Amino acid sequence: MSKSEISRREVLKAGAMAGAGMTAVGAIARAAEQQPGVQAANTGTPPIAISSANGLRATEIAVDLMRKGGDVVEAAVEGIVPIEEDPEDTSVGYGGLPNELGTVELDACVMHGPTMRAGAVASLQNIKTPSRVAKLVMERTDHILLVGPGALYFAKMMGFKEEDLLTERARQAWLRWKTRHPRDNWLDDDEIKMDFPMQTGTVTCLCLNDKRDLGGCTSTSGLAWKIPGRVGDSPIIGAGLYVDNAVGACGSTGRGEANILVSGSRIVVENMRHGMTPEAAILDVLKRVVDMTTSPRLIHRPGRPSFDLNFYAIRKDGAYAGGRIYRGGFYAVHDGKENRRRESVYLYESPNA
Ligand code: ASP
Repeated sequence: MSKSEISRREVLKAGAMAGAGMTAVGAIARAAEQQPGVQAANTGTPPIAISSANGLRATEIAVDLMRKGGDVVEAAVEGIVPIEEDPEDTSVGYGGLPNELGTVELDACVMHGPTMRAGAVASLQNIKTPSRVAKLVMERTDHILLVGPGALYFAKMMGFKEEDLLTERARQAWLRWKTRHPRDNWLDDDEIKMDFPMQTGTVTCLCLNDKRDLGGCTSTSGLAWKIPGRVGDSPIIGAGLYVDNAVGACGSTGRGEANILVSGSRIVVENMRHGMTPEAAILDVLKRVVDMTTSPRLIHRPGRPSFDLNFYAIRKDGAYAGGRIYRGGFYAVHDGKENRRRESVYLYESPNA
């Protein structure tokens, strides 16, 4: 067992000893934070922005915009837009890897702490910047989530231009995959593994301004080679993103199906509400993900999933963290002083150790 692992038994024991209700939750938080791998929280000075490892540009832009008085969601979205427009990032927006038919389908959401509003789009085709469309769903409609043709119809009404999002690089990768795809079998992982390095990826950006308001955005092209219409966690409020202006915010990247099953970002925020540091809050939810992973197809060996999942969290007081199941993850943070990547906390050294 890794030093950095929170022992679920210890956490549960603390909860049982403390009795029911909030007291138990407080004890669980303390037990989680006393685990060896959970360091004292990193804390910055607002405005602060935290993002996935591919979001170093996003955190720079977001802090700059907040310093100029920009709103927290506007800062998160405008930080993410250059990544959506970048053909080299094959996990987000233009240049994202397509579904099994070779069509790029994008998902994104935003959530605004001060007004507790949210907006999202899923399976959106032909629009480079789903984050901006999600923001307009929040601002201009009484809905939260628009999907597929409805999301495209709305984007066009809002003046977005339709474009082909499939770059030559992504098309070549899809063709390589296509030649090896076992027909009508979406579960046989070994058969569909291929030489393209990145089949998953997402960008998330969380912002805290100097008024201590919180907002966030998550954007992705989702799982490469997905069945058309597959939607992961990224546009799901409570999974890919959750913001509570009284507490903090959390975003996620990695295996969306695992995150949806635990409502991960929402639970990380609830953990912080009950007193956990962002590190402890994240590791507690990751442990729940590991415990819930029982399908042999998704297990490397007992207690070790064959996938990873990342959370990024910021608390209203400026404490922040990134965390994942296995060592080796990074996140981007502008802590008000400098913009850099930091190593994520983790549960296990590796799937083997
Ligand atoms: N979470 C994204 C999804 O499941 C993919 C990823 O972040 O790798 O769609």
